Amino acid sequence: MEFANKVALITGSTSGIGLAIAHELAKGGANIVLNGLGDPKEIEHVRSSIEQDFKVKCTYSGANMMVPGEIREMVMQAIAQHGSVDILVNNAGIQHVSPIDEFPEDKFDAIIAINLVSNFHTIKAALPAMKKKGWGRIINIASAHALIASPYKSAYVAAKHGVAGLTKTVALEVAEMGITANAIAPGYVWTPLVEKQIPDTMKSRGMTEEEVKEKVLLAAQPTKKFVTMQEVASLTAYLASNVAASITGTVMSIDGGWSAH
Ligand code: NAD
Repeated sequence: MEFANKVALITGSTSGIGLAIAHELAKGGANIVLNGLGDPKEIEHVRSSIEQDFKVKCTYSGANMMVPGEIREMVMQAIAQHGSVDILVNNAGIQHVSPIDEFPEDKFDAIIAINLVSNFHTIKAALPAMKKKGWGRIINIASAHALIASPYKSAYVAAKHGVAGLTKTVALEVAEMGITANAIAPGYVWTPLVEKQIPDTMKSRGMTEEEVKEKVLLAAQPTKKFVTMQEVASLTAYLASNVAASITGTVMSIDGGWSAH
């Protein structure tokens, strides 16, 4: 199996894309470190199901991606429990939709902290052991908004453009060490994160739910279809595999043609 004896830590993997990635990497034989918010009973069910279904070891860290000390502790604990973190997937993210002159300051700060700054802290904590091993994969789940802006998403667009820059810089620093760093830039994927921003978008633009889906979300996506979580998870697994050793420093679009406009 491609990821036998490898350990994958995926931030924000209690829901949506992160959970799909955890399942895909576990399917390939990786031991998994889950992270994210949610109901403890549901998280425990997700954790134990991964162990049973894929015959791998799976642990959970409740580290808050807004708190640098908790992020460092999560990575150190993962290395202590599993022996290494070979595949680091920075996926945790939140969104808030609002005109910039009305954008709540605490929401702006939280989006930058969770969607961008947490990536710096996980990478900083995980890299020394990857360097020692001479093998590592860093995969940052950015967004089409790492390449393109949309109105009313100033914090998210700024954070995701930042993730693109961080990814390229890390890739250059570790290029000769068997470690790759890439970002994935999905268009709209149907997950709780997208579902939750519909009411705010309806308010900001004065639209119905159907109008938001058709005229805002899928308007820019030429395929007129949501990207699936499985498609993003499969691309992540590919970038984590050995045959992707020469792919580094990229911001890889998976957006139904959105960024071709
Ligand atoms: P989601 O809301 O389903 O999942 C987000 C995950 O992040 C959850 O597990 C949540 O618990 C976790 N999280 C949130 N705040 C956290 C915190 N403070 N500490 C720890 N964990 C925290 O969202 P999703 O759509 O699956 O998004 C996952 C990633 O994909 C995000 O980075 C998002 O920006 C990106 N993305 C999503 C889409 C899309 O259309 N859904 C498109 C492009 C990029």
